[in-house]
Amino acid sequence: MAAENHPSPTYFILLLITITRLISTVGKTSQWKTMLPPELVSAEDNNNNNNNVFQKLRDDPEALERVSRDYGNLVHDVPVAVLQPATGQDIARLIKASYNSSVPFRIAARGQGHSTRGQAMVRDGVVVDMAAFRERGNGVGIKVSVDPLVGDYYADVGGEQLWFDVLHSTLLHGLAPRSWTDYLYLTVGGTLSNAGISGQTFRYGPQITSVREMDVITGKGEFVTCSSQTNSELFHAVLGGLGQFGIITRARIALAPAPKRVKWVRLLYNDFSAFTKDQEQLISISGRKQNIALDYLEGLLLMHQGPINNWRSSFFPLADHARIISLVTKHSVLYCLEVAKYYDAQNENNVDKDLQVLLQGLSYIPGFYYEKDVSYVEFLNRVRSGELKLQSQGLWDVPHPWLNLFIPKSQIMDFDSAIFKNIILKRNITTGPVLVYPMNRNKWDNRMSASIPDEEIFYTVGFLHSSGFDDWKAYDAQNKEILQFCNDAGIKVKQYLPHYRTQEDWTNHFGPKWRTFVERKHQFDPRMILSPGQRIFNN
Ligand code: FAD
Repeated sequence: MAAENHPSPTYFILLLITITRLISTVGKTSQWKTMLPPELVSAEDNNNNNNNVFQKLRDDPEALERVSRDYGNLVHDVPVAVLQPATGQDIARLIKASYNSSVPFRIAARGQGHSTRGQAMVRDGVVVDMAAFRERGNGVGIKVSVDPLVGDYYADVGGEQLWFDVLHSTLLHGLAPRSWTDYLYLTVGGTLSNAGISGQTFRYGPQITSVREMDVITGKGEFVTCSSQTNSELFHAVLGGLGQFGIITRARIALAPAPKRVKWVRLLYNDFSAFTKDQEQLISISGRKQNIALDYLEGLLLMHQGPINNWRSSFFPLADHARIISLVTKHSVLYCLEVAKYYDAQNENNVDKDLQVLLQGLSYIPGFYYEKDVSYVEFLNRVRSGELKLQSQGLWDVPHPWLNLFIPKSQIMDFDSAIFKNIILKRNITTGPVLVYPMNRNKWDNRMSASIPDEEIFYTVGFLHSSGFDDWKAYDAQNKEILQFCNDAGIKVKQYLPHYRTQEDWTNHFGPKWRTFVERKHQFDPRMILSPGQRIFNN
């Protein structure tokens, strides 16, 4: 297991020593040559042609530094080299070389490195830099098409592409995917390796369910096209598969006509039971053809120790801040229901009425109803402006000790009283966003690797902490207390974007799917080469 190094002064001194050593190596012999299997190095020396992937490896400090940290800023694992591929063939050659070697070296694709616990890192192995592939490579890009047989729209998208670019390219055709993440500067391959969830999931499923076909390079270095009909075992393994079975180089994503605008509403509650009852009632209207249904539903906590607007979205009008703050002070915790209804020219005249019908009878605090009318792009890209603001203040690249959980509906009330109203309030350190919203299990596909609770409705709770470099351990201690409490109280939580330390934890996480997960690993990555940063098979 990699050490979770707090980026303390000692860390920076060590980093400096490492970098200095590396600088002194460059120009003499590449560091990877001393660390990768000898037969590969001699192959590289003897085979100086364009197909030689080892000529495309970088081990200069800049390339190594870029891939040895992530958004979490808690784990720092330095690889021996970075592949900046020009083609998918480069990736396949690298994996094949490892697979055929007497001592295989480990390889991880790195999307944007927006993981928080080193999941895309690989100590002493090779990182495939998918961002470099996107910027300089020759991948499939983003191509919109129509299936002539059924008239379905879809986009073929490189695994290295950002969802933001997928949105813009598909909108040029008046189309868009239906299921999103809250933040769009994530890669297609990275979110499909987890699930890809947001307020649309209750109705349209996680992003993994909008995939129709993929090109995957397996842990044997083989290119395989797969779908739920062809090579279905690999297809289902890879979706939610935490990078364990292959590197996604193309995903075919289903598209639908894109709306133009969005009615975006927030309602405040002081009673968790009323809040969740209303959330569950609203997500029960979830048929794709139910025009009256909401298009998006989430929820978040407002607490006296944090600002009422945060980097994820600035929503409440300034004029109302004082009265919301005084309500938060009175109750300690408020719950904010957040919903959206899309519209365009065709249903422009009905959208207000439809929304009114949906929201009538809800038990929010009278007078605490807020509404905005924004463009579809502004809505989907709502987190970006907060990111840019934090970046300009130097507050984006700080530690992020996040904890994301799935909780069965039957235990969400216990979670509220023990965690939100007890642990969180007592510790008094949570100031960042805490998300709480339900999803329908029937919108997920149980054949895929993603692991979710057994109940028909389950909640996601995301503690999206930002901390200073000196106090991240306090947040980690809180995360541990939450997990320990759930364990002791029998609250059957599963982590989303999981980070477990023992084989037993992983076995519990996957539950009945664990055997299949292991069998698929032996089938598609038998030499345990891929995504070791997840720490599933190499604990
Ligand atoms: P990375 O972190 O680089 O990689 C994640 C894993 O996938 C690694 O194991 C890596 O080896 C593997 N991988 C990467 N590319 C490929 C590929 N092409 N083929 C196979 N395996 C690959 N998630 C949500 O679901 N919903 C959200 O609303 C959401 N919001 C977020 C907001 C922010 C600000 C951040 C930082 C993250 C958010 N996430 C959200 C989490 C995000 O989905 C994960 O971080 C995810 O890993 C995608 O990030 P990435 O593309 O940078 O992948």
